[in-house]
Amino acid sequence: MAVIAFIGLGNMGSGMAVNLVKAGHEVRGFDLNQDAVAALSAKGGKAAASVLDAVRGADAVVTMLPAGKHVRGIYEGEEGIIAHAGADTVLMDCSTIDVDSARAVGEAAAKAGIKFVDAPVSGGVAAAEGGTLTFMVGGPEDAFEAAKPYLENMGKAVIRAGDAGAGQAAKICNNMLLGIHMIGTCEAFVLAQKLGLDPQRFFDISSKASGQSWSMTSYCPVPGPVPAAPSNRGYKPGFAAPMMLKDLRLALETARSAGAAIPLGAHAEKLYTLFTESGGSEKDFSGIIEMIAANKTE
Ligand code: NAD
Repeated sequence: MAVIAFIGLGNMGSGMAVNLVKAGHEVRGFDLNQDAVAALSAKGGKAAASVLDAVRGADAVVTMLPAGKHVRGIYEGEEGIIAHAGADTVLMDCSTIDVDSARAVGEAAAKAGIKFVDAPVSGGVAAAEGGTLTFMVGGPEDAFEAAKPYLENMGKAVIRAGDAGAGQAAKICNNMLLGIHMIGTCEAFVLAQKLGLDPQRFFDISSKASGQSWSMTSYCPVPGPVPAAPSNRGYKPGFAAPMMLKDLRLALETARSAGAAIPLGAHAEKLYTLFTESGGSEKDFSGIIEMIAANKTE
C-alpha cells in the first residue's frame, strides 16, 4: 500500500481522501482549514503540518483545490511540490482549473522528470464520497498508467483525454454543454407549463423523444419526475450555481485563447451571472428555472 499526500480537503477532497484510506493507503492530509485536517484524522488519515510535510517521501500526491492560481501556487517554484517530490512520485491534480495553468504545471513537472496528470472529475459531493467519480485525465501515457490505480480507488471511470491539459479541456467542454443543456431544459419546462402541459406528462414524452438529456432524465429542474434531483429539496446544491459559473467562465477564457466561437456558452455565462447575482448564489445550478419562470432573463 502507498503513502499518499492529499492537499485540499474541502467538499470534494474530504470524501476522496477517505476513499483512499478505505483502500488501505496511508493518507497524509493537509488543508489551510484545520477542521478539515482534523476530520480526515478522525477517519483514519494522518494530519500533515504543511504541504511539504505531506509530500516528503510520498508515493503519490493528490490535490483538490479551488482554482488555477492555488494549483500553480503549490506546485511551482522552489517551495513547490515539483521541487520536493521524489523521482518516482506521481502527482495528480483533480481540481477544475484553466487549461493554460494545467499545461504550465504539466510542463514544469515534465522538465523536472516527474509524472504529473491533470485529472478533473465529473460527479459532485455524493460521487466523491461514494467513490463513483469519473476522471478525465491529461498527461503522458506513463504518468496516466501510474496515476490510474489511485484514481480507480476514488472513481468508477478513469479515461485518458490526451496530453497535459487535455483532462481540463474535456471537463470545460463537458460542463459548458451541461450549462447550455440545463438552461434549454428549463426553458422547455417553463414554456410547456405556460402552454398548459403537465410537467410530468411533458417529462414522460420528452425524456423518450429527441429533447432528452442528462439535465432532464437525471437532474430534472422541475420537482417530481426525478426524485433525487435538487428540484425536490428547494434547489439545495448539488452542484452550486457559482460552480457552474466558474466552469462557464473557464470555457469563455479558453475559447478566447483557442479562437473558438461559443455563442451559446457565452450566453449561458451571462444567464448564470444574472442568476448568481439575483439570489441564486446559494442554489443548485438547476434553480435557474425559477429565474426563467419569473421572466427575469434580461
Ligand atoms: P472547496 O472550496 O470545498 O475545497 C477546497 C479546499 O482547498 C478548501 O478546504 C481550502 O481550504 C483548500 N485550500 C485552498 N488553498 C489551499 C492551499 N494552498 N493549501 C491547502 N489547502 C488549500 O471546493 P470543492 O467543492 O471541494 O471543489 C474543489 C475542486 O473540485 C474545484 O476546483 C471545483 O471546481 C472542483 N469540483 C467541484 C465539484 C462540486 O460539486 N463541489 C464537482 C466537480 C469538480
